[in-house]
Amino acid sequence: MPQHDVLVIGAGLAGMRAALAAAEEGASVGVISKVHPVRSHSNAAQGGINAALNPEDSWESHAFDTIKGSDYLGDQDAIEIMCREAPQELLHLEHLGVTFHRNEEGKLGTRAFGGASAARTYYVADITGQAILHVLYEQLMKHSEVFRYEEWFTTALLQQDDGAMAGVVGRNIRDGSMELFPAKTVILASGGNGQVYNPTTNALVCTGDGIALAYRIGAPLMDMEMVQYHPTTLAGNGLLITEGARGEGAHLYNAEGERFMEKYAPNKMELASRDVVSRAEQTEINEGRGFPDGTVSLDITKVPRKRIHEALREIINVGRDFAGVDITREPIHIKPGNHYTMGGVKTDFEGRTPIAGLYAAGEVACVSVHGGNRLGANSLLDTLIFGRRAGQDAARYASDTGMPKPSYASLSAEQGAIEAIIRRERTGRRVSEIKAELGATMDKYAAVFREEDGLRTALEIVKRLQQEATTTATDDKGSVFNQDALGALELGYMLDNAELIVMGALERKESRGAQFRTDYPARDDEHWLKHINLSVNGEIPEVSYSDVTITQWQPEARTY
Ligand SMILES: Cc1cc2nc3c(=O)[nH]c(=O)nc-3n(C[C@H](O)[C@H](O)[C@H](O)COP(=O)(O)OP(=O)(O)OC[C@H]3O[C@@H](n4cnc5c(N)ncnc54)[C@H](O)[C@@H]3O)c2cc1C
Repeated sequence: MPQHDVLVIGAGLAGMRAALAAAEEGASVGVISKVHPVRSHSNAAQGGINAALNPEDSWESHAFDTIKGSDYLGDQDAIEIMCREAPQELLHLEHLGVTFHRNEEGKLGTRAFGGASAARTYYVADITGQAILHVLYEQLMKHSEVFRYEEWFTTALLQQDDGAMAGVVGRNIRDGSMELFPAKTVILASGGNGQVYNPTTNALVCTGDGIALAYRIGAPLMDMEMVQYHPTTLAGNGLLITEGARGEGAHLYNAEGERFMEKYAPNKMELASRDVVSRAEQTEINEGRGFPDGTVSLDITKVPRKRIHEALREIINVGRDFAGVDITREPIHIKPGNHYTMGGVKTDFEGRTPIAGLYAAGEVACVSVHGGNRLGANSLLDTLIFGRRAGQDAARYASDTGMPKPSYASLSAEQGAIEAIIRRERTGRRVSEIKAELGATMDKYAAVFREEDGLRTALEIVKRLQQEATTTATDDKGSVFNQDALGALELGYMLDNAELIVMGALERKESRGAQFRTDYPARDDEHWLKHINLSVNGEIPEVSYSDVTITQWQPEARTY
């Protein structure tokens, strides 16, 4: 039985940063990841990471931009921590070996990003996530006290009799064997839930596992309705064209050749917050000023060609390979598409949940620093700052806690449940068919614009799919790399996530950040300047509220 002081579920940026921090505190650390660590979705991050490092910039300005971007739903004390600690974290990465772009003078260079009042996004061309992830992985390999369980899938979180964490159950994807992992603390760093939607910019692994696992054992979730649609994704496949393109100077046009952002955000234009730009695009498309394929166009030829080749080279490939467009010569058709999970497992600044020994950090968590809408390049920052803090706190907590002894009965129960899925004969649809209907449903009813009837329809469909999911079975009956069986488990997690997103969206009867209710089109601070918490209570999620922390920035009208 592999046992650890700190067991991290996920090896993206949040998980690796947490593991390194815990190891530096002297803890014995395990990291479980269902894919090889450098295939985590963090690898796909293109545009960059924010920090107010420049002497003319200030953490206060970064914090204010983040708060305004969040439509005042972000907790200002958490945002202050993130923005104050950002410069130090960025320099730490640079010292570890991340090759951030340097300008002509040899200094760290920045690019402009949406919703920011200064250019404070640091980057490595348009492969920033990959650059940071690989450096952290190297660091992790240097630490002999960190055990990596690569291609292991976590199926359950285990608790002691008093409710405190006891460890997890994992399945070795390579051979199907299962194992009990006792652990004093568990840090969920399992990423977001983009796959609940179709299309999405998110990798196939982003199925909201940690959110569902935490919810199932009673951890409260917060602001689940806040789902970000990114303004520039390819129609059909959802591939992302980085906000860096607009940061470098690309323009948006409708089919009539009009630079429509003039109407919606006359000051910031294409670099308004993502929710604002996505709504503007969707309005143009809905009112008949889009292209026949339901898109508007992004003109990157406004950026000098040399600069495109230097700073946006990855999206040259994306444009060519996935849309047949040479972005250095012609505009590319784009539309808003699912991108990011602002809500998640509710935590404090140290990543703690109300369940003793259970932590969460990164996209799975809701601290909350993004509130109703995340600013571009603030997520990589969030994963690192709160990953580190969770790792340090978990190591300290573990140092005066005994090793729990989870029962083997939980292992047999999990084994039995998976075997049953593999053994049973399929009477209904395949997992992939149910997933496709779920994705299309969410994209139709719980996207940029929402309203009561549509959300109710979505909830009914999700409930029906939850029933249907219990009858599905796998075509693969083997044990080696049985992704089919894991797909069935992931489907269950995605359906939980979908139900909770829709419940939150129904509950919040106002428009704020990414949630725009056409039946309640105004922001309503009097009634809804509060977080929506959802926790399990038998079959139905129970709704409660918590206050938004305001430190020095009072809510104002939000214009760009
Ligand atoms: C295309 C794209 C571009 C982006 N660009 C930027 C950007 O430029 N700047 C920015 O700030 N943000 C960006 N983001 C957002 C940002 O990349 C993510 O929010 C962030 O990387 C999430 O990191 P994470 O560590 O929380 O999770 P992830 O990197 O998603 O890692 C999750 C980990 O959990 C593991 N896992 C999940 N479930 C299980 C399970 N059941 N058992 C075992 N392991 C499990 C996975 O194997 C993986 O290792 C982008 C996102 C996308 C999709």
